[in-house]
Amino acid sequence: MRDIECDKCGESVKRNEDATWLEAIAKNNNSIMLHHARHILCSPSRAQYVVHDDFEKSVDYREEYDKRLKPKKTVDRLEKMWTEAWVQLQVESGEWKVDKWSGELKALGEPQ
Ligand SMILES: [Zn+2]
Repeated sequence: MRDIECDKCGESVKRNEDATWLEAIAKNNNSIMLHHARHILCSPSRAQYVVHDDFEKSVDYREEYDKRLKPKKTVDRLEKMWTEAWVQLQVESGEWKVDKWSGELKALGEPQ
């Protein structure tokens, strides 16, 4: 059984907040070993590339990872990859559903 506590902050991790699942989706690699969990926000190197109104904005201050120091082309590509993976993770984990008529995503429990 995999641990559901974040290996960085020790708090429990819901599937839709888990950076290891996010990475498995982003890299289309289900063989990533999911034997530990980490909040996406506890992984700023990945979190900084999730650009979405429903996701807290993050900065990775470590020079080798900070996207503000990277070429725009690279940043655009990675933002697209990680943001799309994040949206997919919200759907897969049941936090959001796709409206079958409009194709739009809706958070569950949101007023219609
Ligand atoms: Zn954490």
